[in-house]
Amino acid sequence: MLDIVFPSVSSILSITALGAAFGVILSYAKIKLHVERDPRLGYIVEALPGANCGACGFPGCSGYAMKILEGSAPINLCMVGGADAVEKISRIMDIKAEAQRPKIARVHCQGGGDVANNRFDYNGPRSCAAAQQIREGFKTCAYGCLGLADCMNACPFGAIHMSDTGLPVISRELCTGCGNCVAACPRNIISLVDSDFDVHVICRNTEKAPVMKKGCS
Ligand code: SF4
Ligand code: SF4
Repeated sequence: MLDIVFPSVSSILSITALGAAFGVILSYAKIKLHVERDPRLGYIVEALPGANCGACGFPGCSGYAMKILEGSAPINLCMVGGADAVEKISRIMDIKAEAQRPKIARVHCQGGGDVANNRFDYNGPRSCAAAQQIREGFKTCAYGCLGLADCMNACPFGAIHMSDTGLPVISRELCTGCGNCVAACPRNIISLVDSDFDVHVICRNTEKAPVMKKGCS
């Protein structure tokens, strides 16, 4: 037969007293450790676009907002938010600042698979960074696009697609100038330019023409 053991009155009282003591300690700690939150933090986060692309150099929009609030970051680093974000944050923080000129990414290579030659067959991972590690890339031209889409994969705005010949194509409408593709390209052939600038360098090769023509016609 199963014996049922009832706790004694003294053990019930001890547990109750212990619970009450912990309750008092936690309430005290809550009051002592409470940190007053500056409401401007939320307003700054709202003024930023929420893209969390990291282009400002901080871990996401709230990380950047925190730095603005601390006064340790300028208020015009968000290329995605542009002039609109700068104006809003300027009012919140009562700081004047000029918005940066809008930028757009440009690829400085026209050497797609139809015109550019390869030095060897590459069968490694489908990544430009990985391909660049193998004898500095399979393209004959050291400045040529490897076409394995690291830039496209790094774009948080879906602004890049790869052409039929394996070159990245950047959408003027979708590109926010965040610069993630610039950082992702191991060949350094993408740069940010003023969005209203219509003349672009389409090849970065600095070799003499006969050498250059061996890699790309
Ligand atoms: S194309 Fe480059 S700069 Fe433009 S949004 Fe995409 S990653 Fe950013
Ligand atoms: S990351 Fe650079 S090398 Fe790779 S596809 Fe984009 S532009 Fe070409």
